[in-house]
Amino acid sequence: MRIAERILSGKQFLSLEFFPPKNPSDWPAFFRVVDKLKELQPLFVSVTYGAGGSTSENTLAIVTRLKQEFSLEPMAHLTCVGATEKGIVSFLDNLAAVGVDNVLALRGDPPQDLGIVLPESKDFVFASDLVSFIRKHYPSMGIGVAGYPEGHPEAASLEKDLQFLKRKVDQGGDFVVSQLFFDNDYFWDFVQRARELGIEKPIVPGVMPIFSLKIIQKVVSLCGATVPAQLLRELEEADAQGGADAVQALGIRHARSQILGLLKGGAPGVHLYTLNRDDACLELMDGIF
Ligand SMILES: Cc1cc2nc3c(=O)[nH]c(=O)nc-3n(C[C@H](O)[C@H](O)[C@H](O)COP(=O)(O)OP(=O)(O)OC[C@H]3O[C@@H](n4cnc5c(N)ncnc54)[C@H](O)[C@@H]3O)c2cc1C
Repeated sequence: MRIAERILSGKQFLSLEFFPPKNPSDWPAFFRVVDKLKELQPLFVSVTYGAGGSTSENTLAIVTRLKQEFSLEPMAHLTCVGATEKGIVSFLDNLAAVGVDNVLALRGDPPQDLGIVLPESKDFVFASDLVSFIRKHYPSMGIGVAGYPEGHPEAASLEKDLQFLKRKVDQGGDFVVSQLFFDNDYFWDFVQRARELGIEKPIVPGVMPIFSLKIIQKVVSLCGATVPAQLLRELEEADAQGGADAVQALGIRHARSQILGLLKGGAPGVHLYTLNRDDACLELMDGIF
């Protein structure tokens, strides 16, 4: 079933994002995490995709198992940077064959830290090219697209970025999942500006809990999200006084408060970047739904 139909027909929801473990020997532990988080009754679960196709097989194998063995509604992420039409078709055909009905259509970024340069794709330049391709050739596929409450790092302005988001939606995106942010005001402002531009599809906030100072510093350096100065100060103090456990406890409190605020403010649901962590996610979601 298309996720947008589920979003529009139901009450506020939680969805969960996982990344495929690189090493198949880690899969049993990964699926134990999924099994534990299943108790949160996610509306859908999404699985990331390594830009350039590096996780293509793993993403496919995992969404297949999430559907067939866990009876979850999976959404496979799919990036088009450096991809060929043949590769995209093969991935989408495989999804259709195993009954996965939803894709998050992304451009992706070449993995710069590894010094890898992907060939320029002549078939797809922006995510909107992928969206229109999927809508044309796989008309029944549900399509999510990415949105950036603080603007995409490459965008000339938030205004321009929103215009390109509108293009993705106009070309067939059913709903938007947002990039992480740590101050809900960025999200509400983004939703308001998107609505003013005529983007009417559901916009789902993405929340990433801070489980580690080092990891979050790396993530924000890549995606351009802002850690508010006061939160950063508190995290650094927690780190100095109580170390990793204290940082995680503060990160959980902050994410919990963000989620409660988003739900209270009328967000359709919340997409939780789980970082494949079960206990910490269960703790932060305790009693929310
Ligand atoms: C919810 C979510 C999940 C993600 N999952 C993954 C994942 O699984 N794997 C992964 O590799 N990455 C993932 N990403 C990261 C994403 O791939 C990067 O942020 C990437 O840089 C942009 O992807 P996009 O789909 O938003 O690109 P686009 O929508 O193509 O936008 C990219 C940039 O180009 C600009 N732009 C768009 N169209 C045009 C145009 N016609 N002319 C000029 N400029 C234009 C935009 O303003 C933006 O600055 C995810 C991001 C989010 C928010």
